[in-house]
Amino acid sequence: MSSIIQLLPDHVANQIAAGEVVQRPASVVKELLENAVDAKATDIKLIIKDAGKSLVQVIDNGVGMTVTDARLCFARHATSKIRQAEDLFSLGTKGFRGEALASIAAIAHMEMKTKQEQDELGTHIVIEGSKFVSQEVAVLPKGTSFAVKNLFYNIPARRNFLKSDTVEFRHVMDEFQRVALAHPNIHFSFYHNGSEMYNLPAAGYRQRIVGIMSGKTNEKLVPVNEDTDIINIQGFVCKPEFAKKNRGEQFFFVNDRFIKSGYLHHAVMAAYEGLLKDGSQPSYFLYLQVPPNTIDINIHPTKTEIKFDDESALYAILRASIKHSLGQFNVAPVLDFDRDSNLDTPYHYKDVEVGIPTIQVDGTFNPFTDDKTNQHYTKTGSGSSSGSYSSGSSSSSYSGSGSSSSSSYSGYSKRVEPTASWESLYVGLDTENPETIESSPFTFENEEVTSSLFNDDEVEQATQKTYQIHKKYIVSPIKSGMIIVDQQRAHQRILYEQFLLNMTVNQASSQQLLFPLDLFYSASEMKQIEELKPSLETTGFVFDDSKTDHIVVSGIPVNITESEVSMVIEQLLSDLQDGIPANSYSQNDTIAKSMAKSLAVKTGSYLTEKEQDNLVNGLFACKDPNISPFQKPTFITMRVEDIDKKFAL
Ligand code: ADP
Ligand code: MG
Repeated sequence: MSSIIQLLPDHVANQIAAGEVVQRPASVVKELLENAVDAKATDIKLIIKDAGKSLVQVIDNGVGMTVTDARLCFARHATSKIRQAEDLFSLGTKGFRGEALASIAAIAHMEMKTKQEQDELGTHIVIEGSKFVSQEVAVLPKGTSFAVKNLFYNIPARRNFLKSDTVEFRHVMDEFQRVALAHPNIHFSFYHNGSEMYNLPAAGYRQRIVGIMSGKTNEKLVPVNEDTDIINIQGFVCKPEFAKKNRGEQFFFVNDRFIKSGYLHHAVMAAYEGLLKDGSQPSYFLYLQVPPNTIDINIHPTKTEIKFDDESALYAILRASIKHSLGQFNVAPVLDFDRDSNLDTPYHYKDVEVGIPTIQVDGTFNPFTDDKTNQHYTKTGSGSSSGSYSSGSSSSSYSGSGSSSSSSYSGYSKRVEPTASWESLYVGLDTENPETIESSPFTFENEEVTSSLFNDDEVEQATQKTYQIHKKYIVSPIKSGMIIVDQQRAHQRILYEQFLLNMTVNQASSQQLLFPLDLFYSASEMKQIEELKPSLETTGFVFDDSKTDHIVVSGIPVNITESEVSMVIEQLLSDLQDGIPANSYSQNDTIAKSMAKSLAVKTGSYLTEKEQDNLVNGLFACKDPNISPFQKPTFITMRVEDIDKKFAL
């Protein structure tokens, strides 16, 4: 029998390799940018069209290539970066596998221009699907330019697999940010479809981070510095109060290379222990330098994973140094007039400061007299007239919280529940439509108190239609038994339908803000917001002309408070980070869901009787009261028979 094994032709081998190296336009961006950095460029320009699907071009002023190298660089395993296997352990460059250019050239139309400083003339090469189309001598500046066009033109399956421009652009942006953050000493610029996304002059770490994230980032950063034998740590972590909902801004760089490490992330989170609100994520930008021979970055083709020799020591050092920094820079809160109050506690629980009670002593009090009216002290709120707690009548101690809370605060014994976000419960319900409520499958019982078991006070309570239990469920009697409503899910459903309705009939009313809000975002977030604007406007948002790094909000939907705006937008960005989720029908649907999620009353919130009532009525006025926008049941019914059965046991 004849032998059947053959060596694959180069262009086939390259295409296969390309599958590993090039997943999407962003992979090309990463490889080309890293090559430019390795070529010691001080100025790198990235130009893309259609999120990189039609064009990715990187122009650098680095060392360039000779005529021979210019041709050789497209061959597989062609690299100038290692000569022997041992070099792998002292790597100072990004690349070393010598596969990137060969892979990209196999699946795209590629053009390269390169010239070394000392040469008169440079080389211009066109290569398509691994085939050299032309090679010419050309007059060129020093450095190299790679243009990659029509990615995956010869692999339709891969091309069709690419996501929307928005999603692909996000990936490109991520790669650009990673490289630019890792190398602040290089001037980077970035253009998409002709408009400038970034222009970042050579700078230090802090300036580069601020340049990439947004102008407001500066005040949020706390420096971290630690130098030990096994690791040098530099960089910044964000103050706990600026922690975000999403994990967008978390960066580790090891020896100037962006890496992902769940383990090190854990170390950072451990340093923040007790400082973060549930589920919130701190931003961090940490630059670690370790001896190259103590790491192995060769375990993943796209090289974002890494293995350290002594992980547990690094963990401990990292955690300790961040903890130290946070402690040092957070002990005394600094007065900060620039501070964006919108980033403050978004929800209802703003700690209320209770003033120190002052006691008025009646100097004429004589314990030996019988005079009953001669009470010496008492507290307000208990109905007595003499004496008062100074904090009792003064609401100023908490009115500065930024929320338009209108709850009255009388006497220390009463719980204060800012009602700001509660306004949302009432919206649309004051014009409650009795028809819709009747059409709901439930009729609420008219309670008649027949028992005299209770004293007057309790009877009064028993006339209440609904009860809240565990600050989580609302129980309400109905003819056939009772229903138990999940307050958070029910409110999500109500808000979701409201937003959807507003968006489709386009009649949302908005409240004009006296002082427009400036909200700062990174360039990629700004781009996303620009795309969302038309939809957001239909919910009642009004935007003034935005600047490059911030939007100006001059009107907001009626069911949102000013202090909730940034939280809502942030949640939305986080929800839309990877495009429209599979379980949503449209962008509008996603926005309505996201806003409902942000704004709905949470489990753990106390609801007044009226609020409970509104919630239950509002839910059954909904088109689809049974499930939350996220497909979870909003309430359950317990029929009297069910209850009877339980007692029959
Ligand atoms: P690797 O980066 O792993 O070595 P690549 O396929 O990315 O492999 O590049 C192959 C070689 O081409 C590099 O080793 C380098 O010598 C050369 N090269 C690539 N890009 C540039 C550039 N922008 N400037 C100078 N030389 C480059
Ligand atoms: Mg490379």
